[in-house]
Amino acid sequence: MTIQSINPYNLQSIEEYALHTDQQINDKIEQTQGAWLKWRNSGYAERSYLLNKLAEIIRARKVELARLMALEMGKPVKQGISEADKCAAVCEYYAEKAAGFLSDQIIKTEAIKSYVCFNPLGVVLAVMPWNFPLWQVFRFLAPALAAGNCGVLKHASNVPGCALAIEDMVTEAGFPPYVFQTLLAGSNKVDKIIEHEHIKAVTLTGSTQAGIKVAQKAGSLLKKTVLELGGSDAYIVLEDADIALAAKVCAESRLINGGQSCIAAKRFIVVKEVEEEFTRLFTQYMSQKVMGDPLEDRTDLGPMARADLRDELHSQVIKSVTQGARCILGGKIPDGENAFYPPTVLVNVTEDNLAFNEELFGPVAAIISANEEEDAISLANKSQFGLGAAVFTNDVERGDYIAANLLEAGSCFVNGLVKSDPRLPFGGIKQSGYGRELGMFGIHEFVNIKTVVIA
Ligand code: NAP
Repeated sequence: MTIQSINPYNLQSIEEYALHTDQQINDKIEQTQGAWLKWRNSGYAERSYLLNKLAEIIRARKVELARLMALEMGKPVKQGISEADKCAAVCEYYAEKAAGFLSDQIIKTEAIKSYVCFNPLGVVLAVMPWNFPLWQVFRFLAPALAAGNCGVLKHASNVPGCALAIEDMVTEAGFPPYVFQTLLAGSNKVDKIIEHEHIKAVTLTGSTQAGIKVAQKAGSLLKKTVLELGGSDAYIVLEDADIALAAKVCAESRLINGGQSCIAAKRFIVVKEVEEEFTRLFTQYMSQKVMGDPLEDRTDLGPMARADLRDELHSQVIKSVTQGARCILGGKIPDGENAFYPPTVLVNVTEDNLAFNEELFGPVAAIISANEEEDAISLANKSQFGLGAAVFTNDVERGDYIAANLLEAGSCFVNGLVKSDPRLPFGGIKQSGYGRELGMFGIHEFVNIKTVVIA
């Protein structure tokens, strides 16, 4: 059995990879467990040294990595280089911070001594998506290794080259053999992997449907999960916003990674007073983006990652239009043997429309009209998802209050686009998942928070 990596720019096969057999998967998990029995006793100084080495290697190989991502899933190289830099940064961040985040915490009681310490759990399974093929893995891997855990990766089936490149860099950095391994396996093998006695926990980044399946399986075995799932982030534009800034940032956010980002803005909820001006400027920005070969520096928007995903997105656009939305930009599949989809803007999107209720995982924006602030917030929260949200207003106090108290999402930004940052926790609520990655909260997900009392 094999998997093929297909270039979405021309639908040509790049390489075919043999899938690991059940026996090989089992052996690899055993090897990683063996590695963990030693790695859990390594000190923070060693972990930090190796994570910094890994960061150096990622930076040295960033152009090669960006080209690989461009070929396997269509990300423009300049965006791939930034992604690689961010992976290096998260390694450096945990190299510096892990010891502090995981140091013992004394809690005074009537006992002689009582405190909390943090022990690693063991081998964690990471099930990851193709959209940020390096970043999604490193934001799990850096804190996992820093905390003394080990990992096995089941990456998305269209990015096996990226999955193997990550394993290769971990080895090149000098980590002990097998602390991290890639399992080349389809999603039909995940249940079996979760069942393995040495898999202690699972983290999945991907669609809500995949998250539910993995959580069900892991839950049936009482293995901990962290789920980073889909989103339909609402960006609210209020009447007192800087409309030019809002339009620019909103277009930028909608087109991050060709629109294939969980935290790309998807629903633009604009108060009626400024809707016309916002729509005009936003559509202008969306139309200015250069679509083309992801290997070229001038390209802002590559092809979508797979032709079937593009076709699915197009059918969502058609349905949204049938349900009353009006398409004022894009909305047509370009000619050619590839997976391109143009920047697309839908207006007249109401709360019963598909574009309001489903995640549109590509460069399609839905503009929704709101009467005023209260209506805008209520529309923003009328979503099964709760990953990110943003509000644009010139009154920073008003924005801060809305972000902190009124919006139902894991990350809320004022006058800026929602993005992840190694220093800040990241994750969702509702159907966008649970648990947090990054920052101090992220490293505490896969540890035994142990209470020690000396009576
Ligand atoms: P996906 O189809 O859910 O795939 C994600 C991973 O899960 C892949 O490795 C996939 O393997 C595996 N998988 C799929 N179905 C599974 C099942 N039934 N059991 C076990 N594993 C399964 O998602 P995608 O299309 O790659 O990514 C897009 C989705 O991810 C979007 O909804 C996006 O919003 C979400 N996402 C969320 C975040 C976040 O941080 N919250 C970040 C990025 C993406 P195969 O490839 O072999 O099918």
